[in-house]
Amino acid sequence: MLIDLLEIPDDKFISGKNTIQYKVLKPHQVMQIDLQSPMEITKVTQSGKELEVKHNGNAHFITLKSNQNVGDINALEVHYKGKPREAIRAPWDGGFSWEKDQNGKHFIATSCQSLGASVWWPNKDHGYDEVDSMLISVTNPKGLMNVSNGRLRKLVKNDNNTVTSHWFVNNPINSYGVNVNIGDYVNFSEIHEGEKGDLDMDYWVLSYNLEKAKEHFKDALKMMKAFEHWFGPYPFYEDSFKLVEVPYLGMEHQSSVTYGNQYKKGYLGNDLSRTGWGLKFDFIIIHEAGHEWFANNITNKDVADMWIHEGFTAYSENLFLNYYYGKEASADYVIGTRANIQNDKPLIGTYNVNNRGSSDMYYKGANMLHTLRQLLKDDEKWRQILRGLNSTFYHKTVTTMEIENYISEQSGIDLTEFFNQYLRDIRIPTLEYSHQKRTLKYRWIDVVDGFDMPILIKIGADEQWIFPKAEWQTLKTPSSKMLITVDRNFYVNSKGN
Ligand SMILES: [Zn+2]
Repeated sequence: MLIDLLEIPDDKFISGKNTIQYKVLKPHQVMQIDLQSPMEITKVTQSGKELEVKHNGNAHFITLKSNQNVGDINALEVHYKGKPREAIRAPWDGGFSWEKDQNGKHFIATSCQSLGASVWWPNKDHGYDEVDSMLISVTNPKGLMNVSNGRLRKLVKNDNNTVTSHWFVNNPINSYGVNVNIGDYVNFSEIHEGEKGDLDMDYWVLSYNLEKAKEHFKDALKMMKAFEHWFGPYPFYEDSFKLVEVPYLGMEHQSSVTYGNQYKKGYLGNDLSRTGWGLKFDFIIIHEAGHEWFANNITNKDVADMWIHEGFTAYSENLFLNYYYGKEASADYVIGTRANIQNDKPLIGTYNVNNRGSSDMYYKGANMLHTLRQLLKDDEKWRQILRGLNSTFYHKTVTTMEIENYISEQSGIDLTEFFNQYLRDIRIPTLEYSHQKRTLKYRWIDVVDGFDMPILIKIGADEQWIFPKAEWQTLKTPSSKMLITVDRNFYVNSKGN
């Protein structure tokens, strides 16, 4: 795939063409391309001939003239132009951000995660459709630099006071990850001696933030070390890793993670866990870069399964802490984030209608995974599962079921009811118990059918695994005066006497 974004003048107008190369899988003569109003497709050509396009809202149906034979690799050129939607509250309500930096220079960026990439460029706008590589060519006024995904192939000075940067992405990329960032950038770099060799890490920041960034972006190398340990090799060595300053908070744009956390620790200076641990790292550097493994490497086919992106990535925040500050610190953090959980809707949304699950996909997702880590009773095995997910589903799009099945198989535990409970139900399992006459009676309530998760409790000072079900179970104890406590690492409620 090839994009030319030809000019970015002051009137917030863009024009360009997307050369789409495709392999014919079925012999259809019509191709759907998405582009959202007010952007318009001006012309589509194939082999120099103009093709007929029928427009239906944001979907455009192109009739192909030449016979489409299965296995053929063909290309067509989609020309487009317009004033793309301006971001209202990037990156959530995205589009183009046309900002100015402190020196009054252009500071422009795109973000389109929920809207879809077709808000600014024509493509097949669905999660299951990732191109295998892409050349992104952007022309902008001289004195400004564009930074997109992948590696800079060349920078060409044009006669008309513009420059064209050509960025090449050597890996499959989700369309919302494609981005354009234009500003008065300066660059600095370092090498990470990683699991797949030397990885160049490049940082693009506004000229006047250079010194600040050199100090603050030390979190990036720390992140890369910690996440390669937990998740395996960074998935895009061929494309390098970049952090790019933008005029909004940030986004997981593949191999060019965007950054706008104001050079503060935490989330704009706040600790999402309220434990103090959240101020040990820059939330945007850690979280958005965590998405390189969960979102960019392993991508949901349907946005209903977006918990795969956000649950694992929210979980990655505590693994970062685990790597540098130990297991108790990481537990404090992830448990602290439970205060953000609403339990309003299930984590999985409705399939096939562009519907996401609850925003609990972040911290309930993280706490579900933290609970799962306890069930495995083997941190090394858990780490190998996290790494195995990234190697098994390397550069793939997936469904929740594939993730569930993989973890069940690798752990040797049938997690069907566990996932049904935490992903498809809003109730928190409650351990109900009574402790009388040296007998502990216990059972699960508020659970899905068949839910039988073992749980670690303390009877007095002694730890003990118990195996509750929906029916009462009993256990003899040395004394009814001994206090029963449930291990805090399990995301459950308890109710006892
Ligand atoms: Zn995220």
